[in-house]
Amino acid sequence: MFESLTSKLQNAFRHLRGMGKLTEANMADALREVRIALLDADVHYKVARDFLDRVKAKALGQEVIQSVQPGQQVIKIIYDELVALLGTIHADLDLGGNPASILMVGLHGSGKTTTSGKLARLLHKQGRQPLLVAADVYRPAAMDQLETLGRQLGIPTYAPRGEKDVLAIARGALDFARSHNRNVLIFDTAGRLQIDEPLVQELVRLRDLVHPREILLVLDAATGQEAVNVATHFDQALHITGAILTKLDGDARGGAALSFRAVVGKPIKFVGTGEKLDDLEPFHPERMASRILG
Ligand code: GDP
Repeated sequence: MFESLTSKLQNAFRHLRGMGKLTEANMADALREVRIALLDADVHYKVARDFLDRVKAKALGQEVIQSVQPGQQVIKIIYDELVALLGTIHADLDLGGNPASILMVGLHGSGKTTTSGKLARLLHKQGRQPLLVAADVYRPAAMDQLETLGRQLGIPTYAPRGEKDVLAIARGALDFARSHNRNVLIFDTAGRLQIDEPLVQELVRLRDLVHPREILLVLDAATGQEAVNVATHFDQALHITGAILTKLDGDARGGAALSFRAVVGKPIKFVGTGEKLDDLEPFHPERMASRILG
């Protein structure tokens, strides 16, 4: 995960550790390396700039400059700022209400359907009774895909083939959940190649009907800053409650993970780390920062 970012940061850290005495000039050199590492990883330039401003302000404090190992102190500051950038604490799901609803939204191919299945499995393991709801009326294959996942997982799926009205699906799913004692509904909604007005309108109507506790945006981390642009649009339209970053096992460079919170102002709640149904992890800023620093 993020190998290139990690190796570039480790280079910068080697230089920091090698510094006997910290001056404004040699620190500027080391921080320039960190900046390049972040930009190469596709971190949003404003996020990278603000990040380095904060590191610099702290690093030039007297107690750092006068310490025995100033380079090591700067590395600690970078770690702490990385954790802060990623959101500091793990943001849990809000599953209040009975049943609670989760809307899974995102572009086509982002990993929405797979992640719906992964999340259902995780919640089931935690003792919940999830219901998967196929709310994509445009692609019959999407209903089939979700139903197959549900069967593999042993979790019921509500997939009324032929129903073309998303709101009718939602009402039917809520009734089904009540009569079958399912306490969390996971709505796998339609995606498009690009966010467009009809899609947004449909999701808004669905949201206003089911009053979801969570609106989770599924984002392909491999798309870097573009993922953050997509997130900004979805958030303006729907007021998402958080994101799930998928495909962190692939060639994601880290830009989406590092820019998301600062740009969108919402937490990353989970990360997808593979194609298997177990490959979903709660997002922990400290663990992620440690992984990035290697
Ligand atoms: P949707 O169109 O948003 O519903 O996307 P899908 O759930 O169909 O996923 C698209 C592709 O991405 C599938 O081949 C999934 O197996 C794959 N995928 C989803 N999440 C991950 C992940 O975390 N890692 C990897 N490597 N592949 C993933």
